[in-house]
Order: sequence, then C-alpha cells, then structure tokens
Amino acid sequence: AKRSSFVVVANRLPVDRVTTEAGQEWRPSPGGLVTALHPVLAKQRGTWVGWAGGTGEAPEPFELEGIHLHPVPLDADDLERYYEGQSNATIWPLYHDAVETPVYRRRWRESYREVNARFATAVDKVAEQGATVWVQDYQLQLVPAMLRERRPDLRIGFFLHIPFPPIELFMQMPGRAEILRGLLGADLVGFQQRLAAQNFVRLARHLLGLRYQGNTIKVDDRTVKAGAFPISIDVEEMEKLAATASVQARAKQIRAELGDPETVVLGVDRLDYTKGIEQRFKAFRELLSEGRLSVPQAVMVQVATPSRERVEHYQTLRVRVEREVGRINGEFGRVGVPAVHYLHQSYSRTELAALYCAADVMMVTPLRDGMNLVAKEYIAARADAGGALVLSEFAGAATELRQAFLCNPYDPEAVKETMLRAITVAPSEAKRRIKVMQRHLRNHDVDRWARSFLDELGGA
Ligand code: UDP
Repeated sequence: AKRSSFVVVANRLPVDRVTTEAGQEWRPSPGGLVTALHPVLAKQRGTWVGWAGGTGEAPEPFELEGIHLHPVPLDADDLERYYEGQSNATIWPLYHDAVETPVYRRRWRESYREVNARFATAVDKVAEQGATVWVQDYQLQLVPAMLRERRPDLRIGFFLHIPFPPIELFMQMPGRAEILRGLLGADLVGFQQRLAAQNFVRLARHLLGLRYQGNTIKVDDRTVKAGAFPISIDVEEMEKLAATASVQARAKQIRAELGDPETVVLGVDRLDYTKGIEQRFKAFRELLSEGRLSVPQAVMVQVATPSRERVEHYQTLRVRVEREVGRINGEFGRVGVPAVHYLHQSYSRTELAALYCAADVMMVTPLRDGMNLVAKEYIAARADAGGALVLSEFAGAATELRQAFLCNPYDPEAVKETMLRAITVAPSEAKRRIKVMQRHLRNHDVDRWARSFLDELGGA
C-alpha cells in the first residue's frame, strides 16, 4: 500500500458512492471535518482510513481530490454489533449523561474490539515510519493503544467529538478499563470542553491509579496530554452561502409559504434523543395553550433528519415525537395552517442556510451535546445580524456563544420563558448579541481547530 506521513482515521470516509449513467462513482461528502483536514491532507499527500459505506468487501484504495482514501470493510454483523450496538446503543447514550439507558451486550463489545483492530491494522499498513496519525471519535477508542503496540514510532492523536462523561457514569460501563487504556495509547487526547478533559485525567487516576499534573498523565515511561479543542465550522463558507441571492430569495419564499407569520421558530437536528426535541415541542404547546403564543402569528418548523433508524432508542423516540407533533397540530392548527411543520428528511446545506435566514428564533435545546454545529451555523448565516438563538447550557457551544439566550432544557418553565424572551427581544439588542457571537466565530473557525490540535500534537 501507498504510505503516508499523515493519516486520519474515522469510522466513515468523507465520500458517498453515487450511481450515475457512467456507473458507480465517488463523490466527496461535505462536512466540517473534511473541510478542515483537506488542506493538511492534500499538502502532506495524506491518507484517510475509514468505512466507505455498504457491506461486504471494501473497494480498493483510491484517490479523490488529492486525498488517498483507504477503505476498511464492515459486514452486516459488524454494523449491527460494533456500529449500531456498542457505538450507538452503549457508548453514545452513556457519554451523553445516560439520557437514555445504555444497553450492554458482550457480543457488541467483542465486535467493537475486532473492528477497532481492523482499523489499527489498516493504519499500520499505510503509515510510514514516524508518521502522525489522527484518530477520530467514539467508534474508535481502542485504536490508539492497538496502534501503539505495533507501531511505537508513530505520533498518535485522538479527538472525541462527543462529551466525555463524569467518573461515576463512565464506571458503569462493562470493559471500562479497556476503553480508557485504548485512549491512553495516544500522545494527545482532545475533547470539546475543559470539563471533559478533566473528567478524563481524573478517571485515569481513579481507575488505573495513574499520576497526573495539570492535564498531563504519566503512563509507564511516557506522558499523555489531554486538552480542550472546541470544534467549529467553516465560517466563511456559511457566510458566503447564506449571502447568495438564491439563498436569500429562498428564505423569503419559505416565509411566504409559511403564510408570512410574525414569528418563525426553527429547529434543525438529527432525530436523536439527546437533542431535546420533545422538550422544545412541549414548551411551544404549553405557550399556545396558555394563550401566550398563537397560530398563525407564530409557527414552528422542525427538521428532524432520519438517523440510526435500526436502533430501538431511535424508533421509540420517533413515535413519541410524531405523536406530539400530531397533538399540537390537532389542537392548535386549522385547515391549511399547521402549528408545526415537521420534516423527517435530510436537507442540503443550501436549503438549511435558507431556513436559518428565514427563522426569527432558532431553538437548540439538547439535553447534552458535544458541541452542536447547527447553533454556530445559524449565527454565521445571519449577515443581517437578525434572529435570536435559544441555546441549551448543556451544548458544548454554550461555552463560547455566551450571548445566546441560554436555558436549562430540563426545566419546562425555563424553556418557555427563554423562548418568549427570544421572540420578543428588541431588534437592536438581538443584533448586538449576534454580532458579538459572529466576531467570536470568525476568530474560531474549523481551520483554527485543526491547526491548534495538530500544533499541540506535533509538540507533544
Ligand atoms: N445537517 C445537514 N442536513 C440536515 C440536517 C443537518 O446537512 O438535514 C448538518 C448540519 O448543517 C450540521 C450537521 O449536519 O453541520 C449536524 O451537526 P451537529 O453538531 O449540530 O449535530 P450532530 O448531528 O453531529 O449530532
């Protein structure tokens, strides 16, 4: 295999397989991570190791837009156990404060170990002597240690995109020490938040008796550094996209299609139980029922992108959410005038930009979220400095976006009051808040995120 001095490892490759008249071909799939890493990968003739989607044999390694892509195969059993099981029904809920009860299965753990070993083997093949390897996210927490065992020459970074839980929660997980040792195989372990990095170093002492000083943990004869590296978006790209004439026209059209209401309230999330979608609907319903809001003066649009549909937690969530939408529309809608426009669909970045620009109030109310990029996208999209962001204190983004209307999503009265404050804020005050946040984002985009992690890893 072709060898590289810089290797990114993630569950997914940043590509989608599309069928055209010419047959099958690969197309880059847009996303913050690729955008941030593309320049580094292209300059260093880097390799991305990941799953290409689909089951069965993996496609041969290939080049796309200057990046070497190295597919790792997953079969149907891997998908069910490693991906849907251990990653998305065990680790995901546990790391998000166990807002749904994590499910523990021995076969899922075994599969997680097997698949992580497969990724480590693939990296071993493509990484040249002394290469830098950057492992991404919760699906691959064993990879750093598995890799170090074979390749002590490598410099290994790991970044966790989701929260890292407090000790008491982490300790529930069967096989917990294996996961912690897996992460400690890295030279640098990055988190979204300072608190998460702190949870990690304290856990290392609690579970393995390791010593630490500040954020540096002593492991055998090496040191492992933990740190906070809050991820961001390609701010300039979103600003430009949102400012195009076609997006602006589409935003106007959306408002017209909604019946030109005084207030458009928007939510955009994967349909996930961590996102607080139900809490948001409940707040809207109670405000309508108390007569503090009314249809058609106020309407709500909720994009709930299909996600992890074979995992049971997600199937039951969908039933609850759709029942609530039916309840609100049944009670407060009229013929041709629904109170909630519910869209269980996936949207392009262009359509999302138009929705952001059409929304007076953006509701981002997760019970727990590593960062939440939608909140940052909304701020970046508002060149007019209009609109208001309601943001949960439990989203990583709340650490940076202090001028949002912050709320505790577990407190129904707080969500209602905060939503009303955002709806009724004076335009001048709304503008002031948005502008402060825009300035922050311009100085903290995704490029800076990648650079600061890699600088720290280089000097680790
Ligand atoms: N997104 C999208 N189409 C959709 C819904 C979401 O492209 O229909 C994008 C959205 O613009 C954002 C990302 O998906 O960039 C979601 O990231 P976030 O951190 O908000 O949540 P996650 O889904 O990663 O938990």
